[in-house]
Amino acid sequence: MQKIRNYINGELIEPFDKQYIDNYNPATGKVYSLIPDSDEKDVKLAAEAALAAFPKWSVTSKEERSRILLKISELIERDIERLAIAESVDNGKPVALAKMVDIPRAASNFHFYATAILHYSSESHAMEDVAINYTLRNPVGVAGCISPWNLPLYLFTWKVAPAIASGNCVVAKPSEITPMTAYLLSELCIEAGLPKGVLNIVHGHGHKVGSAITSHPKIPLISFTGGTKTGAEIARVAAPMFKKLSLELGGKNPNIIFADCNFDNAVKTTLNSSFANQGQICLCGSRIFIERSLYEKFKTEFVAKTKAMRVGNPADGNNKIGAVVSKAHMEKILSYIELAKQEGGSILCGGHQLKMEGEFSEGYYIAPTVIEGLPYNCRTNQEEIFGPVVTLTPFDTEEEVLMYANSTQYGLAAIVWTENLTRAHRVANLLHSGIVWINCWLLRDLRTPFGGVKSSGVGREGGFEALHFFTEPKNVCIKLK
Ligand code: NAD
Repeated sequence: MQKIRNYINGELIEPFDKQYIDNYNPATGKVYSLIPDSDEKDVKLAAEAALAAFPKWSVTSKEERSRILLKISELIERDIERLAIAESVDNGKPVALAKMVDIPRAASNFHFYATAILHYSSESHAMEDVAINYTLRNPVGVAGCISPWNLPLYLFTWKVAPAIASGNCVVAKPSEITPMTAYLLSELCIEAGLPKGVLNIVHGHGHKVGSAITSHPKIPLISFTGGTKTGAEIARVAAPMFKKLSLELGGKNPNIIFADCNFDNAVKTTLNSSFANQGQICLCGSRIFIERSLYEKFKTEFVAKTKAMRVGNPADGNNKIGAVVSKAHMEKILSYIELAKQEGGSILCGGHQLKMEGEFSEGYYIAPTVIEGLPYNCRTNQEEIFGPVVTLTPFDTEEEVLMYANSTQYGLAAIVWTENLTRAHRVANLLHSGIVWINCWLLRDLRTPFGGVKSSGVGREGGFEALHFFTEPKNVCIKLK
C-alpha cells in the first residue's frame, strides 16, 4: 500500500514515530494509502528546517523566486491528468471537475504569485520638504499554512504560493482527509529545484500537527482555511502569542433570485452553485431565496434538473456528482436532512444516501437534496451543512430577503440574480458578505480580495492582500534637513 511521506528539509521522510493513519477512497469506502500520523516532533523538525532556510531564501532575488515558482506551476500543468485522478480518488470529486477547476487553479496560484511579486511595490509618504517616509515590506519568517479537504491542492497552494513567493519559509499541513496531492506537490517542488527547507509539509491530524504549528513559538504567522470552530481554537492559541492570523472559515451563503432574472441562466448556474463538488465548496449557495411570483416555476424546473443529475463513480464523465468526502461527513449531512424534516421541511427530491453497485457499494453517496417549507431562522437554514443540500424559500420584498440573507452568523459569499442594474448595485452594497456575485457564480479574478465577514473569517487572501499578509511593513522616516 502506498505510504505518503512528510516533506522536510527537501527530503521525503517517514514520520518520527513511524505511525500511520488509514487513507480512504470515498468512492469505494476502502483504505487505499497510508498517511503519516505526525506530531509535534515532526513539526519541530520542519520548523528548524524552515528557520535554517529563511536567511538565504528571504534575500534570494524575486526574479529567482519567480523562476522557481513558475517551474512548479509548469510541472503541475504537465501532470494535470495524474493530479486530477489523485484528487478525485482522495476526495470523491468527479475527475472532470478536478481537471477543469482544482488542478488548473493550483497551477495558476503559483503562476499568479510568481508574477505578482515582480509587480509588487511599497508605499512612500513625502512630508513636503521636511522628511520622506518609505515602507519596507520584508518577509516575516516561517509561516504556518493549514488547509481543508474540500479543494485540497487548490486551497493548499493558495496559501503556500504567496508565502514562499514573498520570501517566507513554510511549515504546511494539508487536511489528513485529503493529503495525496500535497504529497505529489512535494515531489514536484523537489523536481523544480525549490531549495531545501523553503517548503515543509507535515501530514497528520489537526489536533496533533495543526495545533503544534499554531502553538510553535518560532512560527509567527498562521494562514488557516477550514471550519469556524477550528478557526476559533487557532485564534485562542495564537492570540496571546501575538501571531499574525488569516482565517478563512465557514459559510451559509444566500442565493437570491429576483423575478426579473434571466431564468435559464439562473437555473443552470444555481444547479452548479448548489451541487458542485457535492455542495462541499465554502462558496456554494445553500439557501435559495426566490421572489414569490417566480417561485413555482423556478422550483419545478430546478427540482426536475436536480433529479436528472447523475451521481456515482467520480471517474465516469457522465456523473456530475461524486462521493462526499468521508463516512463521518456523510452521516453529518444525513443528520441535517433528518433535522430539516423534524423542523417541518418537505423533501422535494433526494433526502437519502445512494447505494451503488459493485466496487462502489461501500462509497459515500448522497442524492442531491432540495427542501422547502422551512423558516429562514431554523437550524437547517442557519448552520453550515456543507453537502448537496439546499433549501428553497419564497420572498415578497427586497427588504425581507436582505433580512433573511443577512440573518446567519456567516458572511462569506452571496449570489444575486436580477436584470435590474440599480437593484443589483443596491443589494450588493447591503449584503453582509465578503464576496457578491451578480448573475454568476465562482467567477474568480485572483487579484480581488477574497474572504468573509462575521464568523466566516478574518483577513483577506488574493492579489496583493496576501502579499501584505505575508510581509511585515516597516516605515523608514528620513529627515531631509
Ligand atoms: P477543519 O476545520 O476540520 O480542518 C481544516 C484544517 O485544520 C485541517 O487541516 C485540520 O487537520 C486542521 N485542524 C483541525 N483542528 C486543528 C487545530 N486544533 N489546530 C490547528 N489545525 C487544526 O475543516 P474541514 O472540515 O477540513 O473543512 C471544511 C470547512 O472549511 C467548512 O467549514 C468550510 O466552509 C471551510 N472552508 C472555508 C473556505 C474559505 O475560503 N472561507 C474554503 C474552504 C473551506
